[in-house]
Amino acid sequence: MIRRDYLIVGAGVGGASVCEGIRQYDKKGSVMMVGNEGVLAYSRPMALKQCLGRGSPKLEEAAYLPEAWFENERIDVRLATQVTQLDIERRIAVLSTGQAVEFRKACLAMGSRARRLPVAGASLGNIFYLRTARDVLALREVAEQEVAIVVVGGGCIAAESAALLSEFPKARVTLLHRGKHLWGRRLDEQTAAWLTDYFTARGVKMLMGETLNGFEGGMVLKNVQTKSGLRVPAGGVVTALGVDLNLGLVAGTPLGYPHGTPVNDFLETDEKGIFAVGDVAAYPDRHFGVPRRLDYFDGIVAQGQLAGANLTAKKRQRFEWLPHRKLSFFDLKFDFLGDFSKPPNRVEIEGDRAGKEFVVRYYQLDILMGILFCNQPAEVVQSAREELVNRPRELKKQAAWTLAQTR
Ligand SMILES: Cc1cc2nc3c(=O)[nH]c(=O)nc-3n(C[C@H](O)[C@H](O)[C@H](O)COP(=O)(O)OP(=O)(O)OC[C@H]3O[C@@H](n4cnc5c(N)ncnc54)[C@H](O)[C@@H]3O)c2cc1C
Repeated sequence: MIRRDYLIVGAGVGGASVCEGIRQYDKKGSVMMVGNEGVLAYSRPMALKQCLGRGSPKLEEAAYLPEAWFENERIDVRLATQVTQLDIERRIAVLSTGQAVEFRKACLAMGSRARRLPVAGASLGNIFYLRTARDVLALREVAEQEVAIVVVGGGCIAAESAALLSEFPKARVTLLHRGKHLWGRRLDEQTAAWLTDYFTARGVKMLMGETLNGFEGGMVLKNVQTKSGLRVPAGGVVTALGVDLNLGLVAGTPLGYPHGTPVNDFLETDEKGIFAVGDVAAYPDRHFGVPRRLDYFDGIVAQGQLAGANLTAKKRQRFEWLPHRKLSFFDLKFDFLGDFSKPPNRVEIEGDRAGKEFVVRYYQLDILMGILFCNQPAEVVQSAREELVNRPRELKKQAAWTLAQTR
């Protein structure tokens, strides 16, 4: 039997940063990290930009940590290997190689996969569900040749992909979204409308208010069909319709909730010694009183490093994180600070949308919930954090109460 002190399931940025956190406090404990992709952790946002950007992609620049780091730190990395079974009570995992591994503590970092809708033609050729660098490289090859590309979705990955694809010399890009505007669920109507128009001005055809019905073609895609009966010719499609969590390994257990593995402030599950980080982990957000999953790079690195430290038991830190997602495309750089999960009932704008430099504050019942920054320097974003972190004591109490009700 292979025995390890720590088992990390998933070798994405979540898993890799857990290894960093462990090694900060435990230099000797044996660590195994198992990942079913054939490569070490890399930044998926950077890979998307590299693979769809100008010039040949330099994927090595997207690597999160060099291979030498894992060797020097004696991390037993098993790539292209799946953890197929996990018995948490007996602390035994089975790998796709057939080996069994006995572990003392573990961290779940299995991430997520692009959602596939059960619509007609969903598995035709030239339909892309972006997750790995390989997926994006395959899309690039098609985008270099095909004229009509349709992006389906209205969130961050849809916006970023449509913007990058529109820079391909031959490509004519259409973005199809069931909402009235791009990012309409996150932003106020005027800002979402401004952003939608911005894409139009950059040559992307914006088909708003249209719901995907299915894909048509023989083996290979020909048209995208909408529920209203539109047929949009397409040589390639990107479907960016959200993600499904990779929780099959713990399905049917209290760690396998569809909305994420519940963890406490220390990122530990109800099973002592079993932690979870990244896309799969639902942690208590004390700032806003909601269970939250982080689905962006910087936050996951912070989570992984902290969970790793806590796994060693030489440190016990709470994960207190103000949500902060960064995103950039065209000549726009956005910082989303705070909570954008519910529509605001009041907004305040500073600056000028047309001038592409502005800040919007989002309120619910006069409580500041989130701040959107467009093309603002890091110092401006940093100094505004205090406004959200230092919200009145009563709000924090209320947040704690709401969280207690959701447990
Ligand atoms: C196209 C794209 C664009 C993005 N753009 C941005 C952006 O601009 N900004 C930003 O902040 N974030 C962005 N993100 C999100 C960010 O990359 C993810 O939230 C982050 O990668 C999640 O890290 P993770 O380690 O939790 O999961 P993952 O990166 O998904 O890693 C988990 C790994 O575990 C593997 N795995 C699953 N089950 C098993 C098992 N049983 N055994 C072994 N291995 C297993 C998975 O295959 C995967 O390799 C983007 C993501 C994508 C896909």
